[in-house]
Amino acid sequence: MAWFSKPKYTVLASKNKDSDQKEVWTKCDSCGGVVYNKDWASNLKVCPNCGFHQKLNVRERVDLLCDENSFIEHDHNIRSKDPLEFVDSKGPYNAKLTATENRTGSIEAIVCGTAKIHDNTVELAVMDFSFLGGSMGTVVGEKICRSIDRSLKNKTPLIIVSCSGGARMHEGILSLMQMAKTSAWLAKMDSEGLPFISLITHPTTGGVTASYASLGDIIIAEPGALIGFAGPRVIEQTIRQKLPDGFQQSEFLLDHGFVDIIVERKNLKSKIAEFLQFFNN
Ligand SMILES: [Zn+2]
Repeated sequence: MAWFSKPKYTVLASKNKDSDQKEVWTKCDSCGGVVYNKDWASNLKVCPNCGFHQKLNVRERVDLLCDENSFIEHDHNIRSKDPLEFVDSKGPYNAKLTATENRTGSIEAIVCGTAKIHDNTVELAVMDFSFLGGSMGTVVGEKICRSIDRSLKNKTPLIIVSCSGGARMHEGILSLMQMAKTSAWLAKMDSEGLPFISLITHPTTGGVTASYASLGDIIIAEPGALIGFAGPRVIEQTIRQKLPDGFQQSEFLLDHGFVDIIVERKNLKSKIAEFLQFFNN
């Protein structure tokens, strides 16, 4: 239950205060259209008007991908020790961690566990954007490496669902080191011939894109996901050129070979199961 976190979408209460049925709407972040919450939920948080794939929380993602009650979480209690004793204009990092824990009910920006997908046993790591923007610090890196370690020991595939603003600045160079650390562990997967499926969701940027999210044997993206390293404005200012339409979106990245396949949310589980079956054979 600790995975439940505050939804990031806007919830609008009905104007009809007299009604017993307090109808609640959700506003799409992309097109601004309003959708009944029950339709929103039954449509897996995909906007029926524009097809925008809204972020899922970890619980929803696990429910979407895994066979019922098959997910067993590991390494739940690893917490950052604030190695740099970092303080910014908003106060100490440690206090920010505590406040975020209290607000989200999570301890870190990733949840890892063993699960089954259509009866295929996998290690699954799901990033949690509600926890400091899904940023990758020492704990995220460590938990991913432990998932890989379990994959290596049990000879099972690994799936990482990325949703992240990149490396966590509060842990400085130690966050950046996680890029090398996770990449080195994934190289072990590769040398053992074990499959790694990277599922990239909206938004995934910075050091996460630049490390494990890009290292999948198969890289799957959800439609319309923002996937990049630096933001478009920074790139435009650096190269002094106008960027093409749709730059850093799944569809653009598929056309340019960065992403292998775009899969709509409703088809994700069956498509991943197909890939797992392929690797099994
Ligand atoms: Zn929409």
